Amino acid sequence: MVLEKLVEFSNFYGSNEELVLAGGGNTSAKTDEVMYIKGSGTSLSTITRDGFVKMNRAKLKDIFTKTYPDNDKEREALFLEDLSAAKEKGEESKRPSVETTLHSLFEYTFVLHLHPALVNGLTCSQNGKVKAEELFGDSIIWVDVCKPGYILSKICFDLMEEYKKEKGKAADIILLENHGVFVAGNTVEELGEKLGFVTSKIRNEIIREPDLSSGEFDGDKSMSTFNILNETFSDDCVISYDPSVESLKVSENEETLKKIYKPFNPDQVVYCKPYPLYIVDEKTIPEKVEEYRVKNGFLPKIILVKNCGAYAVDVSEKGSDNASMLFNDALKIACYAENFGGGKPMTDELTDFIVNWEAESYRSKQV
Ligand SMILES: [Zn+2]
Repeated sequence: MVLEKLVEFSNFYGSNEELVLAGGGNTSAKTDEVMYIKGSGTSLSTITRDGFVKMNRAKLKDIFTKTYPDNDKEREALFLEDLSAAKEKGEESKRPSVETTLHSLFEYTFVLHLHPALVNGLTCSQNGKVKAEELFGDSIIWVDVCKPGYILSKICFDLMEEYKKEKGKAADIILLENHGVFVAGNTVEELGEKLGFVTSKIRNEIIREPDLSSGEFDGDKSMSTFNILNETFSDDCVISYDPSVESLKVSENEETLKKIYKPFNPDQVVYCKPYPLYIVDEKTIPEKVEEYRVKNGFLPKIILVKNCGAYAVDVSEKGSDNASMLFNDALKIACYAENFGGGKPMTDELTDFIVNWEAESYRSKQV
């Protein structure tokens, strides 16, 4: 019964592009003994019963009694091993979401975790923490940005224990800086009410909505850019072109570029690569792409061209569409964040961690 409801609300929220993009977000449901969690690399919009992984709740709880090494690679490998060992029989071939342990902490039947641009306008902003306190008081827990995986779940574990002790009730809404929101409830209706509570409070603060409609771009230059990109990346790459008003604005100069140059959240790193490539003169594309590749060890996926806007390049159509979609998401976040003191990207250290994190590279290959 809970599994049926879980599939239903996962598909419902997953089909709303304001809330879920590509493989983003995840959901879970609990019985006394087990928790069903979205499998890594599945999409909420199309997920079926088989897409969920059945986990042993007692074993998930045990993870928080353990001590893990400080070294990132060793710790995450052991954590992943323990997570895998918490799968119920028959689930061996599946891979639970990297956020499974976070879901396990909520003392409610259903959990919905999303990365909506509107909410991230607040969580990825300079004044996010202060503003969240002002808007929501102690009805939520705010979690400062930190490394995902074990570290994030352990911090949430400690904060949720403290919250329960202080408030006498289990936490049901969590805002994660540079990441997204968790809501939990014993009925599906409660999830909707709690998410609505968060989004409506934030929406009330928004003065300017992002404009993703097509803006005025240089037609000749955009054509020439397209041809040069094709030659540079070879003919079998797929290019999505989106000259949106917002992408044209950030492509004006080095100063405007700063608004979106560094990634706001892990999704952006996974689907767009951490940094866009900025081009003023399209004829320099071949050398700039090579410079980027040498410096970063991979090719750019988002190329911003002055007076032309954003190009997303990938070897597959899905990859190119996802990059374009997630870059638009970053543009929205940057715009919403203007209402909260301006955008606050992730630190370089955290970005590097995510670039090298096996769990995320697995995810990007699936959806
Ligand atoms: Zn997440």
